[in-house]
Amino acid sequence: MVQETMDASKTKRIAVLTSGGDAPGMNAAIRAVVRTAITYGAQVYAVYEGYNGLIWGGRYIRPMDWDSVGGILQQGGTIIGTARSEEFRTRAGRRKAALNLVQHGINGLIVIGGDGSLIGANVFRSEWPELLRELLEGGEVTAKVTTEYPNLNIVGVVASIDNDFYGTEMTIGADTALHRITEAVDAIASTAASHQRTFVVKVMGRNCGYLALFGAIATGADWVLIPESPPDVENWQEVMVKRLRAGRKAGRRDNIVILAEGARDRNGKYIGSSDVQRVLEEGLGEEVRVTVLGHVQRGGRPSAYDRNLATLLGYQAVRTLLSARPEDEPVVIGMQANRIIRLPLMECVQNTQAVTQAIEEKHYEKAMALRDPSFHDAFDTLKTMVRALPHPVEEGQRRFRIGVLNAGAPAPGMNTAARAAVRIGLDRGHIMLGISNGFEGLAKGQVQEMDWTSVSGWASLGGSMLGTNRVIPKGKDLYSIARTIEDHNIEALLVIGGWSGYVSVYTLLQERPNFPAFNIPIVCLPASINNNLPGSELSIGADTALNNIVDAVDKIKQSAVATRRCFVVEVMGHNCGYLALMGGLATGAERVYLPEEGITLADLQEDVRNLTHGFLSGKRLGLVIRNEYASKAYSTHFMCALYEEEGKGVFDVRSAILGHLQQGGNPSPFDRILATRLARLCIEHLIDQREKGQTDVSCIGLQGGKILFHDMRDFDRMSDLVHQRPRNQWWLQLKGVAHIMAHPPET
Ligand code: ADP
Repeated sequence: MVQETMDASKTKRIAVLTSGGDAPGMNAAIRAVVRTAITYGAQVYAVYEGYNGLIWGGRYIRPMDWDSVGGILQQGGTIIGTARSEEFRTRAGRRKAALNLVQHGINGLIVIGGDGSLIGANVFRSEWPELLRELLEGGEVTAKVTTEYPNLNIVGVVASIDNDFYGTEMTIGADTALHRITEAVDAIASTAASHQRTFVVKVMGRNCGYLALFGAIATGADWVLIPESPPDVENWQEVMVKRLRAGRKAGRRDNIVILAEGARDRNGKYIGSSDVQRVLEEGLGEEVRVTVLGHVQRGGRPSAYDRNLATLLGYQAVRTLLSARPEDEPVVIGMQANRIIRLPLMECVQNTQAVTQAIEEKHYEKAMALRDPSFHDAFDTLKTMVRALPHPVEEGQRRFRIGVLNAGAPAPGMNTAARAAVRIGLDRGHIMLGISNGFEGLAKGQVQEMDWTSVSGWASLGGSMLGTNRVIPKGKDLYSIARTIEDHNIEALLVIGGWSGYVSVYTLLQERPNFPAFNIPIVCLPASINNNLPGSELSIGADTALNNIVDAVDKIKQSAVATRRCFVVEVMGHNCGYLALMGGLATGAERVYLPEEGITLADLQEDVRNLTHGFLSGKRLGLVIRNEYASKAYSTHFMCALYEEEGKGVFDVRSAILGHLQQGGNPSPFDRILATRLARLCIEHLIDQREKGQTDVSCIGLQGGKILFHDMRDFDRMSDLVHQRPRNQWWLQLKGVAHIMAHPPET
């Protein structure tokens, strides 16, 4: 019988468990929960094997310390195991679980799982007083225990590769699943194109078409079938065949159809991959292959995004739990507008289930209405992108001549954005002009009309097909640019680029009094791996670069298992520390040096002290990430030499300057999706400007969850021109979390 437990009001004891389907990033969340709890003075337990472990107790509920979550950030799955527990669905099971918790003195629980797991947590929490009363009646606990533990506080963290949870923009695991899907579809597309074959790719998502829809956007697939929006005609098969046949006729070499596992027709009948295969084989008269991606989507190393999302959610879950009052309703930690927020758990669960129910009841409009607005926009955009050819131009329609160029260093996602811009523009009936080699090409008159198929395959390509450079026009370039604009009658301009692209556009704006040709609407779309552009919290390319950094650092870390070694990794970013900080957070670096703060001698001395102390106490690997411009005096080589000298006999040091591998490679799904979304809005904005006779010069950006256009006249006010970065950098506030994750309280 439990008689004595520790005073719950003095030291908080909390537990964490993972439940339901596993998702990459769960480990990052566990690590964050454990380390945050330790930092805030709480005792933290892991419950192994989901709710089963809660019922089984004993060795399934174990105290965790700092090192027990070391080295797990980069691992897929969940190190504490997960399960679907039938016993937890029974009252008897939950009574045992309650007994085990009070036996350990635990009165707060963090559940990392899908909506099912969170429902279970809520049932448990609402029954808690009754469960304790039953335990008291059964003589299993004393009255003192029931008064000590009058309630159980619950905090949920949603982990689900399906991204099917209402209220949060992203759930842990969804971004990684999209990585797996894009890798697979990119690979399939190349073989499909070689043989002119059609492929049906089946992806996960029983009640949520997120992976299928955004997978299709990211890979440039040609058709998609999702649960929320079945084809709105009875003869969907004919429509699909007709469209794909038209695509072939227009010269498309591959046909990729993405099918969500929960896709169905208007009558609610599931559409299987073999159904689609048969329909297409008969309709197209060609070989159709099926690839069912299955559990590959769930597995593997979590993406940079998922690691950071999970870390921030886990951190916030602990803070929420430790400050919870007994009367507080349970919350789930989610992400909205790029910020971590607390949401009412039950309301979100109910709305999540309402979508499932709406789909089951064939209320598809309702199901769609409950999805995030970005889901609708994506679906709308996809309908345009999958067309074989644009809609015919309406009679009497004014056709604007819209130029598209890339400027600045190459950023993965530039091609995706250009493709979306060209196709959206053409589909709206306008003439799209591709300008080669940035503003230099514009000065030289390198302008070409783009047609629908000229951008085929660009969705997944890194680099810049149009060509880009960092040339900022001045002097006679400006005359040449004005002449090109006039000669080609360019009536609006989309600049997909980085800092030098923005400065070039700002220059044209300022030169308007001298060059009337510059009086056209212009919009800048942020594309830079540095994420240093004003007006947007994120620029395309940065997520890919971050994943490149994470991939490289994971390998570097693995190379050092047998030695006591510290790595100093130098990353790009110019004068913006975004990649360094987010890369550090995603790889578990113990020290991150940012250009915003610089490096002092005292910092380096402290590093040497901490590294020496750490290695002498059993640590095997050290990781310091520095931005390339963090300090002129204390270069990467200097830092390494200093650490090496001071750490002699205790640890050795290696440097890794990651260089241009960060800029290369195909864009990540996140970058492709953002690029497509922004490009569409930019083209619509330019068309709107022309229709209204306006000539605004603006930059588009993601801010506070909204996509806004900022007036480029404010460029100098929004930017720190000396350091070439925005004045306001939202991500700097994440420094504290990065510090907590890497520094046990005693150091
Ligand atoms: P997910 O969390 O991934 O949605 P499930 O729906 O399978 O996965 O739920 C995981 C576990 O949560 C279940 O096996 C069960 O133990 C628990 N659970 C789900 N719903 C309830 C419920 N209504 N009451 C008690 N436990 C539940």
